[in-house]
This record gives sequence, C-alpha cells and structure tokens, in this order.
Amino acid sequence: MEKFLYDIKNKVLDGAGIQPYEALKILESGSDDLFTIINLADKVRRKFKGNKVRFCSIVNAQSGLCSEDCAFCAQSTVSNSDIKRYSMMDSDEILENAAISAKSGANEFSIVMSGYGLKNRNDIEKVGRAIESIKDNTGLEVCISAGIIDKETIRYLKNKGLDHIHHNLETSKNFFPNICTTHSYKEDVETVKIAKSTGMRVCSGGIFGIGESDEDRIELAYLLKKLDVDSIPINFLSPVKGTPLEGSANLTPVVCLKIIAMMRLVNPIKDIIVCGGREINLGDLQSLIFAAGANGMIVGNYLTTFGRDVFKDMQMIKDLNLEPINGYLS
Ligand code: SF4
Repeated sequence: MEKFLYDIKNKVLDGAGIQPYEALKILESGSDDLFTIINLADKVRRKFKGNKVRFCSIVNAQSGLCSEDCAFCAQSTVSNSDIKRYSMMDSDEILENAAISAKSGANEFSIVMSGYGLKNRNDIEKVGRAIESIKDNTGLEVCISAGIIDKETIRYLKNKGLDHIHHNLETSKNFFPNICTTHSYKEDVETVKIAKSTGMRVCSGGIFGIGESDEDRIELAYLLKKLDVDSIPINFLSPVKGTPLEGSANLTPVVCLKIIAMMRLVNPIKDIIVCGGREINLGDLQSLIFAAGANGMIVGNYLTTFGRDVFKDMQMIKDLNLEPINGYLS
C-alpha cells in the first residue's frame, strides 16, 4: 500500500485525482492501511483547503409529507417514522433558525424542503423572502435543497441572494432504483446540470451504507467529478425506525473514513463536507474526518435526527488547530 500511495501522490497533489481502479484499491484496503491512506488524504486536503473548514447548518423548512419513496428517508411516502410533519415554514421562522445557526458558528445555512420539488408559487416566494432576510440580517451564505428545480426558479432565488444549490445524487445510477422508484436518476442529474448552468455554486453528493457496493461508491465519485460540482456532501446512513432501511446499519468507522479519503483522492480540489450520520457511524473516530480529507461538516441538528452539541464540535475544531472559514468559533 505504501508504494501504491507513493505512486499516486504526485497526481493527487497536482489536483488531477486518481483513476477508478486506484479508488477501488483504497476502498478494498485493510484496516491496517487506514493511517497510511489518510496521511495522503490529509496532505491533499491541506494543499487545496489549508487549515480552513466549512460549517454548514440546515433547517427542515418543510418536513415529511413527501411524495417520493427514498428508502433511507424518514420523510418519504413509505415511512411511518415518528417525525414532525409540516408544510412550508414562514420566512420569519426560517430567519429565526438562521440566526441561531449564525450564532453557533455556521458559515452556511441551507433551507431544506421535503418533496419532489419546489413548484408552488407561494412557497417559492416565501423562500425568496427568507433568503433576502437571511442575507440582510446574518453573515451566512444561503443554500437551498428543494428537490427537482427548474432554471427559472433558480434564477429568481439567485436574484434574492441565494448562493448555493444543493441536490444529492445519493448513489450510482445502477443502484438508484433500489432506493428510489418515484423519480429517475436522470432527473436528479439534470437538476445538477441545470444548477451548474445558472452559474450557481452546486453542492451534490450522496448517502453511504444503504446497501451499495464499492463500485457504486466509486461510480458516484466520478460522476460528481464529471459534473464538476463544487462541494460534495457525504452522508452515512442513520437507519431511522419506520423506514425501509430500519435496522440495516452496515458501516464501520474505518469504512466511513476510507469513503471520505477516496472522495478526496478522486476530487482533490473540491469541498468535501461530512453531513448526516457522522456521530452514529464514526463515534469516537469522528475527529479523523479532516485527516481523511473532509474540509467541512454539518453542525447542529439534521433533518429528522439530532446532531451533537455544537460546542463539542467547535472544541474539536480548536483541538485540531483548524480554523472556520469565517474565522469565527463560538
Ligand atoms: S430524500 Fe427528499 S425526495 Fe426523498 S423521500 Fe426524503 S424528502 Fe422526499
């Protein structure tokens, strides 16, 4: 493994990234190789991202009531999870959540909505007002995660101050029908392409631990590279009671770290953000996500599950001598 990593070192430090067969070698490596692998991933992260880390935060602005059947999601039409279900929040309530996120040290705030896509005019205007007030009242960058979205809506929201669009592809094209049958992979890829075509910064990644193979993980990593997304969120399954994937946790902390490292070595210059499932899947090893190549994480709560105390996360960042991108640590 050491010789292999030595051989690929120059191309990852040049920003080119590794080849699929090399990515497979990373994922198939044994636990004994973990620290050698993350040593290289850490060098790559430091070269392209320095000591800076991004803190994203989210609000679940519309919860549950979704027409889609994503197997991992507590908000889907096939889930009977015990979660809050509500239609779109008022813009003032979204702003209140953003203000709390800003105080806790986040630099980016994502307005997340359940559902196939943002189509209703009233909801689009509500989100537009929320974006304007967040931009006027906080220093946060604003993102939306609104499912399938068209160019006109993106442009309207961009004029209100929207900075980023988030839309996950979740997994590979081949594996996708195993986790969602109500919309096509093509629609998701098209949404990412549309978002890129508007000049927005685009955040797109996936969820791991849903039964996908190493090959599926690698296929996703290369598609994201091809689509030239700016930021790659990595979620690890947090199997929620009442969802089809309840009880199907199959990741170990070492596997999670190798997935992060593979994503960094395939996409050396992109932002890699560890999102849902960090605490439950990485446990005591979660501070190693940065050494494994991530340069950001979600702080605060997730969509339907609780994150850990934000002050613990900030202490972890201080202990690692990392710096938030906005220079502010709560
Ligand atoms: S992931 Fe999004 S689209 Fe899929 S079920 Fe959940 S809220 Fe709906």
